[in-house]
Amino acid sequence: MQNTTSHGPPRWRIIALVLVALASVAAAIVAVPLAVDVVAGAAKPVLEDVPGPDTGPECPVDARYVDEEPDGLRADVRSAWGELRAAAEDDGVPVCVNDGKRSNAQQQAEFDEAVEKFGTPELAADYVLPPEESNHVKGFAVDVQPYAAAEWVEANGQAYGWCRRYDNEYWHFEYDPAYTEDGCPGLLPDATS
Ligand SMILES: [Zn+2]
Repeated sequence: MQNTTSHGPPRWRIIALVLVALASVAAAIVAVPLAVDVVAGAAKPVLEDVPGPDTGPECPVDARYVDEEPDGLRADVRSAWGELRAAAEDDGVPVCVNDGKRSNAQQQAEFDEAVEKFGTPELAADYVLPPEESNHVKGFAVDVQPYAAAEWVEANGQAYGWCRRYDNEYWHFEYDPAYTEDGCPGLLPDATS
């Protein structure tokens, strides 16, 4: 028996065309993630964009300060910080982190506030660094309070890789594993020098 209503292409050809079309769509779907995978630098966390806590609980030994978690610091810095703090506490010196990690955005907000307060970016820069210059943004600086704690870190931190860096900031310490061997570099007058 013959199918007299069939005037178009044979059924097998239609099926073949549909299969080819489906295969192309499937190939395109598969190709997209593969293409993304080979884009250099995609989806890597940028340390400078990692925020730290904005604040923390009150420093138990001095209510003028807070004690932030050292979250967001570079991993090796965070672990070196833990060793330093444990050593201070073994010595009977409580240490509070008044400020540690900041993101680009957090530092920019502080800088903008200082520009508002002091009038110009030049004047503001005497008090707050712009994000590209801050080692808090790079994740290896910690501000220590109260004064007795900073004094302890200044006297004992070098063995753990922590050094005070600025003459005008007794609270600001930076970590570099090289300090354990080479000693602390000389103090700079301030963060802008
Ligand atoms: Zn600092």
